[in-house]
Amino acid sequence: MKCCENCFNDVDIKARIRDIDERGDCDFCHSKNVYSLDIKKAINNENYAENIIFDFEGLLNLYIVYDLNKSPALEKLDDESHKLADQLFNNTNIFNLPSNEISKLLKELLHRKYIENKELFNSLVIPRYLLNDNLMKNNGIFKGKTWESFERDIKYNNRFHSTMTNENILMEFFEATTVSLPVGSEFYRARISNNGDPIPGYAMGAAPLGIAGPGRLNASGIGYLYLCERYDVAIAEIKSSLNDLCTVAKFKISSELNLVDLSQINKLSIFQFDNKEQYLMNYEILNKLDYSMRRLSSNQRSEIEYVPTEFISDLIKYMQIDGKKVDGIKYISTIDDETRDIVLFDENKAIQLKDELLTYQVKKISYTNLKKVH
Ligand SMILES: [Zn+2]
Repeated sequence: MKCCENCFNDVDIKARIRDIDERGDCDFCHSKNVYSLDIKKAINNENYAENIIFDFEGLLNLYIVYDLNKSPALEKLDDESHKLADQLFNNTNIFNLPSNEISKLLKELLHRKYIENKELFNSLVIPRYLLNDNLMKNNGIFKGKTWESFERDIKYNNRFHSTMTNENILMEFFEATTVSLPVGSEFYRARISNNGDPIPGYAMGAAPLGIAGPGRLNASGIGYLYLCERYDVAIAEIKSSLNDLCTVAKFKISSELNLVDLSQINKLSIFQFDNKEQYLMNYEILNKLDYSMRRLSSNQRSEIEYVPTEFISDLIKYMQIDGKKVDGIKYISTIDDETRDIVLFDENKAIQLKDELLTYQVKKISYTNLKKVH
């Protein structure tokens, strides 16, 4: 039987399947003539796909069978018990398959383990870390608490000295997303003119200290330079309306930059971490962080709504990766999934191209991909 690169979301597994360089038809997602993995070869040859079976077998250690006859104390975890395939479907981004197909694929890939212990595949299981409060306290980003309780704490209880976060754990995940931005990369910044005249170039940099309004990644008073990959998205992001005059400045990155790429924070592969329990217990938090970054800010959004992401930004600003400071954050544009924005803590890391200042008037606004919410 064969599975294929389309059966997976996991970046690491997809790459390994592509590297085998064999094409075929998939028995699970039914893609035709795609990069595929021959499961029999994978079981019989450790070198095939870098011992992919070994890595999947490792996942089995993360779960135990939920059996109230053997351990009645587990009853309090009743709501957390699901079949193995459902656990992996809900709490990892490994698969791009419905859970019944994941179940079939697991039984094939892990055939040896399936024969040894069918219960693990067919009965309800729970993640093992739930039985270890200390582990959750030490390795959970919020010491075993949720993203929502962190939001509540930092917004309404303890803004500057919240002790809820295991900062070193959160930084480990940030570090795993680090990317470098090459010299010469080009970005845009747009502003709406408030007097009907084009804005001069000198006013197109970061908002001056003390004057900057609160943003997704800066508290009010702190002026960071927000840039966007595309000029049209930059104009849309500033919520320009019909007939507004918008000036767009183009910037060039002047030295190689180190960025934490939050657009990758919920796409990290479980297989890249030695501590897989730490990944599992924090998976939902990383997804909530991602959501919080993408949530479109409405004009009515109050300053307090930005506090959780400002906290994240501050933490990143003071991180060191291989002895080097982080220059900024890369993230997905809130209005276009395909576009990346960056925020630079030091605006001098980008040079404005004075000759390329352009002013546009918004003549038409098109609404596409409207999503019904009620
Ligand atoms: Zn497939």
